[in-house]
Amino acid sequence: MQTVTIPSQDMEFLVGKILCIGRNYVDHIQELGNEVPTAPVVFSKPASSLIHNGDVVVIPSMSAQCHYEAELAVLIGDGGKNIPESQALAAVAGYAVAIDMTLRDVQDRLKGKGLPWDIAKGFDTACPLSDFVPTECVKDPQDLTITLSVNGEVRQQGATSLMINSVAKIISYLSSIFTLEEGDIILTGTPAGVGQVVAGDTMVASIDGVGSLTIGVTQQSF
Ligand code: MG
Repeated sequence: MQTVTIPSQDMEFLVGKILCIGRNYVDHIQELGNEVPTAPVVFSKPASSLIHNGDVVVIPSMSAQCHYEAELAVLIGDGGKNIPESQALAAVAGYAVAIDMTLRDVQDRLKGKGLPWDIAKGFDTACPLSDFVPTECVKDPQDLTITLSVNGEVRQQGATSLMINSVAKIISYLSSIFTLEEGDIILTGTPAGVGQVVAGDTMVASIDGVGSLTIGVTQQSF
């Protein structure tokens, strides 16, 4: 089983569902040529896809185009069903920075055929995640800056104020479909600036006041 921690509170959580929101920033929707969704786009990653600070993403041999997507991650503490938006942030135990690694070529191929693209998002190492900080460290989750650099060069920088659906809205919406449980993690979407990494690259994703995540990249060779 996978666990995540809030080190400052000496707390450890068994990881449950990892629910992810797609197309949550208009500028990122435009760069991929997608339509603005009428309801949040939801997909999931298995807990087995989690890796931690200092680990390495292994691009599967089926892909020649692996993209990074830096995102704010939310850890559920007190979950529930049908959580009203006004109470949604009380369900949060902590915040972290995540990278939603995506096999863009595999995803596009499967999407084009109308097939599910789980493997493009859920392969082993597809979910690098920092340690969590408690909610007290984040005054407003809609007032954070997400940055990702590759080999020291900033590639992605975006403000969470530009989310189409706020963290509270996302929690409320997801809880109307899935019962949210302690240890569930939500990835809240990526701003513009996604791009490719290749073997030998080093990514650093960070959110001021939340955390930083350094992740290497390698390619599966068989
Ligand atoms: Mg994403």
